[in-house]
This record gives sequence, C-alpha cells and structure tokens, in this order.
Amino acid sequence: MRFFDHRHVSRSISAGHPLAGKTVYIPTMAEGSSEAFAAVFRWLGIDAQPTPPSDERTRELGAKYTSGDECYPAKVTVGDFLRVTELPGFRPTRAAFFMPTAEGPCRFGQYAPFLKKVLRQAGYSDVQILSPSSKEGYADLGDITNAFLRAGWRALVAADCLHRMLLKTRPYETTPGTADRVFQVSLRDLCESLETSCADMDCQLLALVESAIRSRERFRRVPVRYDSSTPLIGVVGEIFCRLNTFSNEDLVRKLESYGAECSLSHITEWVAYTNTEQERKLRLRGRVISLDMLKARLRSYIQHSDEHALMAPFYEDFAGYEEPEVEKVIELAWPYLPVCGALGEMVLSVGKAACHALQGADGVIDISPFTCMNGIVSEAIYPKLSKDYGGIPIRNFYFDGTQSDLDRDLGIYLELARSYHDKKPYSRKPVPLQPVG
Ligand code: SF4
Repeated sequence: MRFFDHRHVSRSISAGHPLAGKTVYIPTMAEGSSEAFAAVFRWLGIDAQPTPPSDERTRELGAKYTSGDECYPAKVTVGDFLRVTELPGFRPTRAAFFMPTAEGPCRFGQYAPFLKKVLRQAGYSDVQILSPSSKEGYADLGDITNAFLRAGWRALVAADCLHRMLLKTRPYETTPGTADRVFQVSLRDLCESLETSCADMDCQLLALVESAIRSRERFRRVPVRYDSSTPLIGVVGEIFCRLNTFSNEDLVRKLESYGAECSLSHITEWVAYTNTEQERKLRLRGRVISLDMLKARLRSYIQHSDEHALMAPFYEDFAGYEEPEVEKVIELAWPYLPVCGALGEMVLSVGKAACHALQGADGVIDISPFTCMNGIVSEAIYPKLSKDYGGIPIRNFYFDGTQSDLDRDLGIYLELARSYHDKKPYSRKPVPLQPVG
C-alpha cells in the first residue's frame, strides 16, 4: 500500500539508488510548486532544483526540436529542459529530468517519450527521464516512493495555499510589490521547512503547519484596501498553460493590472479528480469490494486529512474563496459533459465555470494551448453554460507563444465582466475585510 505504509523515512539514499549522485530538474508549472517539489527531493537526500526560469531561449530551443504539431506545453517543457543542458558544467550522466506522465485520451502521455527522443537527437541520451507512474510501480523512485508521494502531495497543497493568498491579496495591496515579496519569503520558508523537516511524517506535517501559520501572518500584515466593485474572474483551462505564467503571458497579472481579481484553479483539483476517476472505473468494473478500491479510498482519506491540516491556518482567510469538492464540479458539468462519457480537463473546466458563476464571480476565462482539444470542446459548451447561468461572460484565450492582441482583448473582456457585475443573479459571499495597514 504505497501511500501509507510508512511513518519514518530515511533521509538519505543508498549508493545503488537510481538517482544517487544525480540532480533532478523539475519543470516549472505553477508558481512555487516546482520549488516545493524540489525541496521534497532534497528532504529525501536527492539533489534537485527547478529548471531555470523560461525565457526566449526556451522558445527558440523548443521550436528547434518540435515540428509544430505538438502541444505548446510540450514545446515549453522541452525548451526548458534543453536550457538545462546549456548550464555551465552540465553532465548528462549526472542529471535526471522529471517528466510526469498519465494515461488517457490526451497527448500528455506522449510528453515523456517525446522528451526522450529529443534528448537523443540533441546528443543527450544519457540524461535519465524520471517519469514515475503507478503503472510501472514507480520503479524510477525505488524505496523512496512512499515518502515521496505523501510529501509531494503536502508540497503541492502548501504551495497552492500560498498562491491563493497571493491572488487574494495582490489586487488590493496599497504598495505595489509587497504581496509578491511576501509570497517569495513564504515560499522560501515552506521549502526550508520541507527540506529540513524530520524523518517522521507526523512531525513533518507539524513543521509545515507552523510554516503555514508564519506565512499567513506575513500576508495578513500586507497593507490592503479592499474594493467590493473589483470584478472577480474565475480562471480555468488546461493545467499547464493555466498555471505556467510564461506560457500564458502572465495573464492573471495582466487581469489584475486592469483592475480585476482572479480565482485560479490549482493543481490539487486535478489530483482529486484523478482519484475520483480511479474509483469510478473500479466501480464500473464491478470492483467495489477489492484491494484496489481499499487502497484508493485510503489514499484519498490520507490526502484529505493532510490537506485539511495544511489549510486549517487559512480557514478565515479563504472564507468566500472556498474550493468546491471535485464531486460538486463533476455534478455541475454533468448536463454538458457527463463524466461517464467525457474525460479530463474539459469536465473540470466546464464544471468549475458553473461553480464560479454560482459563487458570484463576474466572469470566467479559460486558458488553453492553441489546438488543445480540452479548450476546443469547452469553448463549444460555454455559450450554453453562460445562458444557463445568468449570462456570465466566458471567454477562451489560446496560447502558442505568438499572442499579439492580448491586452486589447482583456480590456474588452473586462468591460463585459464589469457590466455583468451590476446585474448578476448570484451574489458573492462577503469577504472578511482586513484593516488598511
Ligand atoms: S490537455 Fe491539451 S495541451 Fe495538454 S496535453 Fe492534452 S491536448 Fe495537449
């Protein structure tokens, strides 16, 4: 029982471990998540760091090794990994590139084999691709699998909480840049707490909760001036493009510069969805009473209890920003994309758009890579969904690195959101106001 048959972990790996002596590079997805993930590896005695911040060279290298048919996230990720190969002193035999994988209908499952092919072409076939999956028993991780899965989940939840605090504070700060600085300090606090936490899982959780309390206090001290007329925009869409600020041209920050506040769907939503899907498939196969179902339920239970502990310090801060349970998201998507016939992020995007409307948001933006089937399917549904939910403005933005009219389009979109704000049928739960510092 991978996720929970441990309590004390070893904080060093044996010389024979597949990752011994290597540096693991983690691609940047959400702000803060790759840093926190790298800290988990270091906690386990494995050197790790995020790939360098994406820049124009990322796009150049990505374009050099892709044909144009690949998804934009594949191009950005490949470009970022190839930038690692250009770092001074880079040694292929001492590097491992972390490339998660998944089964399903979408092209994401091809990213890891594609990266392998690109590295071979570029002359770096000695680089290890670390692509852990349950299908092959997490063989790449060896005996650190259990601790990695649990601490990795905690890292994601804790980083998500910090990012949610950033998004709810930054639009109202009275001194520009304060919330970003607090986020960076808090992220360092989280990473240090993770990396140096003890080998006992309960003790680690306590250290992370203490770090969360310190961060909460930092954010609460940011001087803010709340304004109830600020439009709240729900941001949904393809997970990488939605969360990766380089890929989406920092759309959230741009929306804030136009006077909006954003509520972004975070990574943990996807993990909850995959857990629910696993249980649904087991039920379909008549395996309600089976060892696999027991494992799936226990994993969900443990993830929930860790999540609950890590989010508890922010309970008052997230009032009015409650994340719906994934079952609720699936239920709201059902009339448009029943989960028995549709899979993946399109279900989450559509269901979450409905949740945002009901929670009193003033608009929804779907961020997707150009040609992403999830965005295309969702886009076809949004006009009906908007009609069903009081006319909430929903707009898709596609990205492929060549966006030119983004500022103009966002300005127009926010005018629509403002006019909906005055007539929307669903009111927003009042947000507790903090004093202006
Ligand atoms: S979700 Fe879209 S962009 Fe992401 S891998 Fe699938 S098709 Fe590509």
